[in-house]
Amino acid sequence: MYEGRTFTARREGYVTTLTAFAMDTYMTVSVRGIDSFEAAKAAGELIEEYDSLFSVSGSGSDIAAINSAAGEPVNISSETLRQITASIEVSGRSGGAFDITVEPLADAWGFSGGSEYRIPSDLEISQLLDKVDYSRIQISGNTLSIPDDMKISLGATAKGYTSDALVALFGSYRVDGAVISLGGNVQTFGTKKDGSEWIIAIQDPNDPERYTGTVSVSETAVVTSGNYQRYFESGGKRYGHIIDPATGYPVQNGLLSATVICHSGLLSDCLSTALFVLGEEGAKSYYETYGGFDMILITSDGRIIVTSGIAGSYTQEKNSPYILEVF
Ligand code: ADP
Ligand code: MG
Repeated sequence: MYEGRTFTARREGYVTTLTAFAMDTYMTVSVRGIDSFEAAKAAGELIEEYDSLFSVSGSGSDIAAINSAAGEPVNISSETLRQITASIEVSGRSGGAFDITVEPLADAWGFSGGSEYRIPSDLEISQLLDKVDYSRIQISGNTLSIPDDMKISLGATAKGYTSDALVALFGSYRVDGAVISLGGNVQTFGTKKDGSEWIIAIQDPNDPERYTGTVSVSETAVVTSGNYQRYFESGGKRYGHIIDPATGYPVQNGLLSATVICHSGLLSDCLSTALFVLGEEGAKSYYETYGGFDMILITSDGRIIVTSGIAGSYTQEKNSPYILEVF
């Protein structure tokens, strides 16, 4: 067993289980292979490093440096730049539904850092909406600047980027297979011991202790965004942590969760958030226009919509209350 500052690695035979609390969430990584212990320790160190680098606060953070630069250009790491470049592309494709400059609003609602949950006034929301605009992020080489009053956060991309990095890391060790689970982000590496596909459970947003079904996948990312993990309730309404940049309010559009299955953890992370904001119709048209991924949407009127590319790999739970639709 090995204990880092924020993680623990426990070896049993060829399998090492890494547990960590980082990026505001519980993480579990199960690694199989001759080097599983060394690989898991290295994974723990990398998670620790990225937790500081991508956080919205702290002295070692690129994001804190950008947000406090008062409009001046800041040198940032290639890791941060990759996430921001991918984010801007998905922002453009989603008509701004995905926008990492939504941070001032996330903060006003109490979803960022230590502040209390609250419902901001309409006036406050409309003033903060003026600070949300991904097209004002300026990138030149490895420097970046945003206007003085704007702020960014990588809450929607950091875990996906990190799981891609762990997959790359495991490639340089004698590791045969691994399952990376960072909050709602799952990513697989290599193969299972018996050579069969990985089975990933899709949570029931109405009852997160249960799952609605499973997908069997080879090496890929499976990333879910929803309103059932981080939210508060007031006056009988639920306010979740994903903000619609069109209104400044937490998303409420009839979707309970959006899961994206695609090779890249980073892209899956951007897309699951984007599709959740776009809603059922918007997500379907994004899928038809751009493709390159599969998705599972769960709606508040009791449907589970699975794209045709993975319909054959999805197995609905026996007692699932959802009606299955293939798109
Ligand atoms: P989770 O962090 O639960 O896995 P997501 O990947 O969907 O979920 O990211 C949610 C986080 O992204 C929020 O906590 C917030 O920091 C940020 N965020 C909220 N709304 C948006 C949005 N419309 N576009 C981009 N980022 C967002
Ligand atoms: Mg995301």
